Amino acid sequence: MAETGTRTHVERQTATLSIVVPCHNEEACLPLFLSHVARAVGEITETYPETTVELVLVDDGSTDGTATLLRKAGDDHGFPFVIRWLSLSRNFGKEGALLAGLDAADGDIVAVMDADLQDPPALLPRMFAMLRDDPTLDCVATRRTTRAGEPPIRSACAHMFYRLMNVMSPVDVPDGARDFRMMRRRVTDALTSLTERNRFSKGLYAWVGFRTAWIDYPNTRRVAGKTNWNFFELTRYAIEGLISCSTLPLSVASWIGLLLCGIAFGATCFIAVRAAMFGDPVAGWPSLACIVTFIGGLQLMCLGVIGQYLANTYLESKRRPNYIIRDGNIDDGARDTGDA
Ligand code: UDP
Ligand code: MG
Repeated sequence: MAETGTRTHVERQTATLSIVVPCHNEEACLPLFLSHVARAVGEITETYPETTVELVLVDDGSTDGTATLLRKAGDDHGFPFVIRWLSLSRNFGKEGALLAGLDAADGDIVAVMDADLQDPPALLPRMFAMLRDDPTLDCVATRRTTRAGEPPIRSACAHMFYRLMNVMSPVDVPDGARDFRMMRRRVTDALTSLTERNRFSKGLYAWVGFRTAWIDYPNTRRVAGKTNWNFFELTRYAIEGLISCSTLPLSVASWIGLLLCGIAFGATCFIAVRAAMFGDPVAGWPSLACIVTFIGGLQLMCLGVIGQYLANTYLESKRRPNYIIRDGNIDDGARDTGDA
């Protein structure tokens, strides 16, 4: 079971709603986050008294007091939910932490959200009600309608990324889509059954499909602490996202190569005919140098694209786990981490 990541849910159903939260250095946000989620869960259990809720908090190799805070919260029984937590052996990145949480989540309905309150917990009751009241719906996802408060350069790059993503890949990821969503067990199982190492969740949500309803909300700022992403990490994440969802760059490289060959062949014929007919001397070396440099650059770029895919294939072929659990109060259900 653990090798494929699929769950034997029927035997292990202990909670109705699981809320999965990846946390990296979030000690400043967590107390406020817990109180906001407690309020939202209170609303849910008031409307649906039969509902039990668990919070699955994943400490992704934090270097601040996050792990201690999670341990304390796990022992605190004053919340309207059970707190299950796990600590990863190092920082595996948000995608690894998210998968660890999804693997550990037991609910029939599973929500995923950030710890910095950028994903408003106040939306949880509405999302839950939508899934409970509409059996034809599999997932309620959210997207930001504005990016106020974000550096303009990041917003511009994000817009460009989504546009590129939607042109290049067969799946559709709406601009502004968040990881914040609530889904039925079948969607969670589909996600955890994908064993790839290079995970780009927004692409995976779209890839697994299912009937999804969207909730729009304006951007909210992080309540405390600072973002875990710098420009280079975001760029790397974007490239990984594109590569994991599309093989179009590989064929674009071939098409550009073919086009350039055609142009070069045409130009050679033209120069040869002109020299034979009119005895024109061939133009000087600067133009030649420019062409050689241009084609050299293009070749390197195409090799780089191929290299990226090769590197990903190499990483996937090692079949290392996406995360390793160091500690926690969850005793079962995590993906097998010993197959590296
Ligand atoms: N996060 C994580 N591991 C990481 C980076 C981030 O678990 O290596 C978590 C982080 O604690 C937060 C969520 O992922 O709950 C989103 O991170 P962040 O707010 O830094 O991203 P942003 O909102 O700036 O895109
Ligand atoms: Mg954030």
